[in-house]
Amino acid sequence: MIPKIGIDLGTANTTIYISGRGIVLTEPTVVAVDELTNKILAVGKEAKDMIGKTPGDIKIYRPLKEGVIADYKATLAILRYFLNKVKITKFFKPILVISVPAGITSTERKAVIDAALEAGAREVYPIREPLLAALGAELPINTPSGHMIVNIGGGTTEIAVISLGGIVRWESIRIAGDKFDESIKEYLRKRFNLAVGEKTSEQIKIQIGSAIPVKNNSEDKVMEVRGINILSGLPVTVKVHANNIAEALQKDLREIITGIKKVLANTPPELVADIMEKGITLSGGSALLRNLDSLIYEHTGVPTYVADDALYCVARGTGKIIEKLDIYRRILFTK
Ligand code: ADP
Ligand code: MG
Repeated sequence: MIPKIGIDLGTANTTIYISGRGIVLTEPTVVAVDELTNKILAVGKEAKDMIGKTPGDIKIYRPLKEGVIADYKATLAILRYFLNKVKITKFFKPILVISVPAGITSTERKAVIDAALEAGAREVYPIREPLLAALGAELPINTPSGHMIVNIGGGTTEIAVISLGGIVRWESIRIAGDKFDESIKEYLRKRFNLAVGEKTSEQIKIQIGSAIPVKNNSEDKVMEVRGINILSGLPVTVKVHANNIAEALQKDLREIITGIKKVLANTPPELVADIMEKGITLSGGSALLRNLDSLIYEHTGVPTYVADDALYCVARGTGKIIEKLDIYRRILFTK
């Protein structure tokens, strides 16, 4: 039997779905490169573990950081690595469904197809991420009704209105989880003279973060953060509260809300009425930021929900397509 594989090629994480089996693997979309020889040394988790610990001539980078395929060679290496890891070799020639950004250009689209074919695929179907996220979130996207999906990942936030299996309006902004981590880092430096690494600021965000200030002690979360005092140069521990994170993220979150409002303002009124009734659905890893749904509701007046299993909506969307390829070929690939 021909293997059918769904790949959520995210800016932060790549997730693989295999038909008949479901989600089998998720690893960081990261590569480690030897700068002297230009050779790719490691991909995925192994490469991510090298972050902050490498000697000078090893560079760690995220080839999809901005949501587009910036580096063909790295993308090819990533696809090969993941296909190998799930034991799909060229010999089996799989059919691939791959997530791509809503705003993909035809050149970028071709680069994805070429990389996938070179990695051993028999057929390749690039599908735009908002459609996959909506499918994975169980939204009935083929009905003549408007749905809004906001997929907040690592590098980008994609906001889209979907109706009749197509994207009616969309907006992609380069503010998502990575920017949150940066803003937290920046805030800690200014507020507490505290220097922390990338991994630590991400941990703080996940462990205690909140999109809106919490009102009382029972909602508060505290973390003892270890870092370097930038004035003394000495290691210190600082108590950081949920409200510190809400403050640190305020500006970024405002920009996401502005993006949502902009898409709503450009959406045909009938579809806006549908969205008002059914609400906004959030997906992607950063949709898990505590109270983000409440914040969006507060600022837009539209009820907002986090999809089940938000981190895996796009991967599950690729799964829905490969399990019913004959039906979806007709509906989606023409759009
Ligand atoms: P992408 O699709 O761009 O690869 P993902 O959807 O995998 O991104 O989401 C990755 C982002 O989600 C990271 O920035 C990560 O820090 C963030 N994230 C994961 N879990 C949480 C959580 N519980 N709260 C806030 N952010 C989270
Ligand atoms: Mg994603």
